Formats: sequence, structure tokens, C-alpha cells
Amino acid sequence: MTEPTTRRRVLWLLPAAAAWAAVPSFADAAVPAPKGFLLRDVRIFDGRRVIERGSVLVAGGHIVAAGRLPRMDHPVVYDGHGRTVLPGLIDSHVHSYPEGRADALRFGVTTELDMMNDPAMIPAARAQRRSARKTTTADLWSAGNGISVPGGHPVNAGWEMPRVTAETNIPRFIAERAAEGSDYIKFVSEPGGASFPLPTLTPRQIEQVIAAAHRLDLLAVGHAEKRSVFLHAVEAGTDGLVHVFWDVEATAADVRLVARNGAFVVPTLSVIDFGVGALELLADRRITPWLSPEQEYFLSQIPAPRPELLRVAMANVRKLHEAGVPILAGTDAPVRANAYGVSMLMEVTHLTRAGLSPAEALTAATAAPAHHFGLTDRGRIAPGLRADLVLVEGDPTSDITALRDIHTIWKNGHPVDRTPPSARASPPRAGVGPAGTGG
Ligand SMILES: [Zn+2]
Repeated sequence: MTEPTTRRRVLWLLPAAAAWAAVPSFADAAVPAPKGFLLRDVRIFDGRRVIERGSVLVAGGHIVAAGRLPRMDHPVVYDGHGRTVLPGLIDSHVHSYPEGRADALRFGVTTELDMMNDPAMIPAARAQRRSARKTTTADLWSAGNGISVPGGHPVNAGWEMPRVTAETNIPRFIAERAAEGSDYIKFVSEPGGASFPLPTLTPRQIEQVIAAAHRLDLLAVGHAEKRSVFLHAVEAGTDGLVHVFWDVEATAADVRLVARNGAFVVPTLSVIDFGVGALELLADRRITPWLSPEQEYFLSQIPAPRPELLRVAMANVRKLHEAGVPILAGTDAPVRANAYGVSMLMEVTHLTRAGLSPAEALTAATAAPAHHFGLTDRGRIAPGLRADLVLVEGDPTSDITALRDIHTIWKNGHPVDRTPPSARASPPRAGVGPAGTGG
């Protein structure tokens, strides 16, 4: 968000390396690698559809079979009575750090899509997501360096981010991002507001960025929160927008344009809610026992309420969804009142309040991002896919908040230790760490 440019400058707290150093590594614990397991008599949400009663067989970190399976025995059986199993959640908008990816995983987010960050983390992220080994952190895809201008959003990325000037050869610039390992290209179209105008890419530059990404077979996704720049990005052929615009309600013509173009939208309502969701999460006993100090700290940074923004953003999500625009769930964590992992449980709730059915909101957090970002080994429960699974009490396809009542998370077929790292010395202080990324 934009105002949030200022907001984030103050409140981006990550990652004071020293504060994070005490995160315990469950990977080091003496837990033998399981030979797999059978989850029996469980409601299955496979990413798109519900099977009211079935089984999931896992071995070697992958799903071997799922659905209405013949009765079988297995040395390790989980009882699914009264429970629902879902694919591990995919957060389609974060700015990630390895330590925060442990917090994400403890709340069922098994994959994060980073929307601008230091590309130095990409090689390790690629190695992890190709492996089926036990891990304590969510897997990561990343845009790496974002495409923005000097002085533009993010004003201070927190690392040395190259910028586009009037002289930049944009195809070459995009090829450099591809060479760094960017999984997709993230551009920023952010003119700021009346009280804090920002330099930004020209419309012509955005068109060149999108075309250059497509020539390299990379998706181009954009930060655009204002109607005018959002619609321009759509017209220029962007594959997706990673916020919904919230300055004004979409007209019928706007909605038709987005639907016709085929762009997906990651609304990030949990940022635009200005703390509404954080307060709800902090009052939920299904959530609070599992929060790390960092998650609790971020959720507790409640800004002054601005309910009109959320109302407009939700109206736009409703209209876009009704027109068939693919909606993906993402949080933009970590920012004020918004934390890794846990805020995804709020984002899907927001999406249902904006008009998606609970099952549609769950698809937005699983199969839809896997489809649009080409993550072929995850996002659904199907034979051959990675055994990233979340088992919850009750039925989140009828009550979305049941997603908060997590029984077991499996990453690569291994159960995840949800114990929060509570013995942290002290929460990070405002102003520590890289300032002002996001977007
Ligand atoms: Zn962002």
C-alpha cells in the first residue's frame, strides 16, 4: 500500500539478525524420518473440491493416493473423523526471511511467494523447494529485486536494489533479474499521494517491463493500489496485480477490462484492514497459544482504523470475483498488524466476507496460486504431489474459521512442530532492520 510506504518505513522490523538467532531448529531434533502415514476417514478438500469421506496415503514425502481408497492397514494411522485435510497453504504476497518462514509453516503456510526481496536468498530457496527433506520452514519462490525507480517505492528496500532510470535498457534490466534467479518479475506502479508524491515507472516503461518478462517466459506482476495505475497495468498485459485497488470502487467497465485481460488479483485485504483482522486473531484462542513473540508483536501494532478503505477494497474484490477474475490469497506480511502465516488465516476469512464461498477462499490459498504461478508439485491433494498438508478440526469449507483450529501440519510428509519459539530474548524494536520494503 502507499500510505503504507511511510507506515512501513517506521514499522518494518525485520530481521534483526541477533533477535532471530535463537529460533530453535526442529530439523536438528532426533526425530526419525517417517516412512509415511495413512490419514483415514477424513473430509478432503483437494484444492478445488470436497470429498466428504476419504483417505490420504503418504510415503517418501509425497502423496501416493487420495480419495475413496480401499480399506488398508498402515503402521502409522491418523484418524480424520470430524476433521478436514487441505493442501498446505500458499501465501501469494510476502516479503520473506528464513526465520519468518518457520512462523509461516507453524500456521500451515507451506509455501510463500515473495514479491520483492534480496535475490541473495534465491539459491537456497530453490534448493529447499526441490528437496523432499524434512524442513522447519515454508518453501519460497521470489521476485528477487523489484522493478522501480530511484526514490520510488520502496523508498528504502533494505538491500542494494538496482533501479530503472530514463537511460535504462529495460529488456537488458529484466534479463539481469532473470539471471539473478527471479522466479517472476515484480514491478511497482506507485505514484504516491498528494501529501507524499513518489517518482514511479512511466506507463511506457511498465509496458516494456511486462513485454520483456514475457519474452523470457516469466510472469509479470505488479504493485498498483490506485485505480488508474492498476487498470493501466491490466491494459499493458500484466499477469497479475498483488494488491486490489482501494482508492475508489470499480466501475462495471473496470471489472470487464480486468476479466477480459485474464489477470489474477491478490487483494491483500489483511493489510488494507488496518488492524481489524489482527484484533480478531488476537482474541481467538485457536490462534494465540501458537504465536511466536514476533508474530504477536506484529499483530499488536494496530494502526488508527480506516474502515472505508477495507469497505472499498472488499467491494472491489466482490465485483472482480463475480466477474470471474481469479483471486489469490496473500498477506503482504510482515507489516503492521500483519504477521507471517497467521495472517493468511485472516485473509481467507476476509475473502469470504468479500463474497467468496469458504471453498473458493481455500482454493485462493491453495490450488489457484499453484496454477497461476506454475507450481506443479503442490497446491492440491493428488497422487504424486508433495505431501504438504494441513489437518484441521471441523469443516472449513462451511465455516472458514475452522482453518484456525489446526490439528497437524505436514511439510514434505513430516509433521511440523508447532511449538512457538517463546524463549526469545526480546521482541525486535521498531526501526531495527531493513526499512520500507513492501509493495
Ligand atoms: Zn508487498
